[in-house]
Amino acid sequence: SKAKLFDEKTDIKTTFKDVAGLEGAKEEIQEIVEFLKNPQKYTNLGGKIPKGALLVGPPGTGKTLLAKAVAGEAQVPFFSLSGSDFVEMFVGVGASRVRDLFKQAKEKSPAIIFIDEIDAVGRARGKNNMSGSNDERENTLNQLLTEMDGFGTNTSVIVLAATNRADVLDKALMRAGRFDRQIFVDLPDIRERQEIFEVHLAPLKKAEGLDTSFLAKQTPGFSGADIANVCNEAALIAARYDKQAVDKQDFLDAVDRIVGGLEKKNKIISPEE
Ligand code: ATP
Repeated sequence: SKAKLFDEKTDIKTTFKDVAGLEGAKEEIQEIVEFLKNPQKYTNLGGKIPKGALLVGPPGTGKTLLAKAVAGEAQVPFFSLSGSDFVEMFVGVGASRVRDLFKQAKEKSPAIIFIDEIDAVGRARGKNNMSGSNDERENTLNQLLTEMDGFGTNTSVIVLAATNRADVLDKALMRAGRFDRQIFVDLPDIRERQEIFEVHLAPLKKAEGLDTSFLAKQTPGFSGADIANVCNEAALIAARYDKQAVDKQDFLDAVDRIVGGLEKKNKIISPEE
């Protein structure tokens, strides 16, 4: 049976409201939403719609969420895949899978293609890699470049790619007409963490007086994904004690648990704020 390389979603409900903080990134990416909603408006004047943007930042900061929100805001289909899938799962067929993906996206255009972990396939060419699948990876990368160069000015497919290692990427990816825009998606500051808590607390039954600014203070160095975990963990802890609502102590216990997990992963919590 043929394994599926990419996922196609239509009618996405995620919007910028689901993305807390990241005001600068949202502002920059808003332009792409406008292009997708009304490509003719731009091409009529002779402008060229950008083909790609690179979302750069640490793990769990909302890069995937932001890309999905672009598709949700513009109401276009969202084709997504992970760079590591190319090289690990489809040895020998990476290039043809890339062709397939672009063909389908073009048929449904305007559309978004989202490539997570682009560094897995987009590392600088001609360097040794330990997986031994160098040729395969290079073929796949070359096909990706060919596809991006190939679509004309009136094909409104925009490729968003995410990485936390922009430094290792092949410079050819960043050339004009490819991923020539970089959008930085950083760890949240204290105010942004409070906003992220507000998003992820919304579906919970909370004890009265729970203070999100307190929670933001307790979580320096946490990513949005870590905060989403804290909220879920807190709800599970409260349930275990048969509580009717999730309270401050449950959050503190959840924070301890997540910090424990992060320390195991050797992540350094910065003594910020
Ligand atoms: P990775 O580099 O590990 O793929 P990422 O940057 O793509 O991470 P996401 O997958 O978008 O991160 O984030 C994981 C989850 O964390 C999201 O689905 C969401 O629940 C939560 N999250 C992360 N950032 C935010 C944010 N800014 N606002 C609200 N929720 C967030």
